Amino acid sequence: MSYGVESNIDWQTTIDEIAIEIQPLLSQGQVANYIPELSNVKDDAFGLSISLLDGQEFQVGDASTNFSVQSISKVYSLTKAFSLLKDKLWERVGKEPSGNPFNSLIQLEHENGKPRNPFINAGAIVVADCVVSNTPDSVNTIIDYVRQLAGNKKIAIDQAMFQSEKSFGHRNAALAHFMKSYGNIESDVDEVLDFYFGHCSLKMNCQDVAKSFLFLANHGVHPITGKRYLTASQAKRMNALLLTCGTYDAAGDFAFRVGMPGKSGVGGGIAAIIPGLLSVCVWSPGLDKYGNSLAGVKALELFTTKTEISIF
Ligand code: GLN
Repeated sequence: MSYGVESNIDWQTTIDEIAIEIQPLLSQGQVANYIPELSNVKDDAFGLSISLLDGQEFQVGDASTNFSVQSISKVYSLTKAFSLLKDKLWERVGKEPSGNPFNSLIQLEHENGKPRNPFINAGAIVVADCVVSNTPDSVNTIIDYVRQLAGNKKIAIDQAMFQSEKSFGHRNAALAHFMKSYGNIESDVDEVLDFYFGHCSLKMNCQDVAKSFLFLANHGVHPITGKRYLTASQAKRMNALLLTCGTYDAAGDFAFRVGMPGKSGVGGGIAAIIPGLLSVCVWSPGLDKYGNSLAGVKALELFTTKTEISIF
């Protein structure tokens, strides 16, 4: 796909300008602290990395500083589960925006233990169960998977973050046990939660995350290795879910302002793609009231506004 204008864009100048323009916002967000380890971060950090399908990369700011990917990792585990279970997956998790916070318990009882979508925590825990129940060593499988996608063998789980999530993950444990009572969790709940907390605790930088999303801009095929992770149809569905559910109950606002399918995490990262062209990851730990990076959303809004490239 060609957008016709991208050859005229000076990517580096564009992102350098963005890094300056978002500076006043860096003090306005709130760093997540409901997982205590998440608050151990420089709250004025800002990084952004772009990966183009043709292999070019551009970075600004703290783009090579590791951060906790948190919910961005739900995309990796969903990719794995979708490729394993195919459309059977949707018998256990829905595809509609939730309109509720990412860790809400309310909807689940009304909907008999079937989460609205795979990106709210309940949905991601069902997805985690699908991976755990269908792979012999789920934790190492997902680490290898992410290392391949990002082309970085050093990517690992942050053990302090993992322990912190495990110790304070009472809501997630409640969600998992509740869904088990409806028969929507097959494996042992603790094993499923360990896998879920494990992938949320992956430490990556903006460059790694941007590269790891490139296959979604390329119909499911990694443009550098040529390896297929999803069929073209599955990649289409994944991008649709990212657009409608990837930033929780702010997905409408994100689509309106940014115009890209994207996934946020409470570590302050957001990854987004433009099909046929690029992937981008921005990181800034101060969050808005929906749990999305405040400066990160603004940076992506500036990016699509300045370049005049979005999916719309
Ligand atoms: N691990 C986090 C949690 O379960 C992920 C939430 C997020 O990034 N939105 O609460």
